[in-house]
Amino acid sequence: MKPVFLAGKAIYPSKIVCIGRNYVAHAEELGNEVPTEPVVFIKPASAIGNVLHSELGEPLHYEAEIAFMVASGKLVAATLGLDLTRRETQNRLKNKGLPWERAKAFDGSALFGEFVPCHGSEDLALTFSCDGKLLQQGHTGLMLFSPEQLLAEVQTFLSLDDGDILMTGTPAGVGALISGGHYHGELFQKGNLLTRVSWQAR
Ligand code: ZN
Repeated sequence: MKPVFLAGKAIYPSKIVCIGRNYVAHAEELGNEVPTEPVVFIKPASAIGNVLHSELGEPLHYEAEIAFMVASGKLVAATLGLDLTRRETQNRLKNKGLPWERAKAFDGSALFGEFVPCHGSEDLALTFSCDGKLLQQGHTGLMLFSPEQLLAEVQTFLSLDDGDILMTGTPAGVGALISGGHYHGELFQKGNLLTRVSWQAR
């Protein structure tokens, strides 16, 4: 198992809870209907990686997301996370109404910057770019369900252990990773930089 880092300290989450279609513009770009309740799926702890692959059997797509760490049932820290996706496989599975694990839960499908303590989810914004070109921009104010609403909903049927991660869905602009590309993510709260992360795609 690979750790994530909270202010320099290694943490081993038991699971990552992910949300689909939490930004209207992203639901529309993939031709999905806008949900009336959160779309929830899980990546196991074994999905945590530290290498950004552009291809694992098929091209991988990036989904940059605001990610929270949970402790004592609360959102205590945040970073930018990548929900890496085998989109061709996901489309094939979705069309058959099958589960997404092969497309979403594979080893190395969850990458995270360093978590830093946050003060709730108010006014959190992310940017994700490749070689200076902006790819995605997200903001907690644009989410269909706020991070606190997601947390409450998830806790109606799942126990969250300290260190578990909640990913809050990706904004519009998803696409295929490019081998050799330099990818940069930044997370801001109230306009101040909280944390940044860089990866070069293999
Ligand atoms: Zn996602």
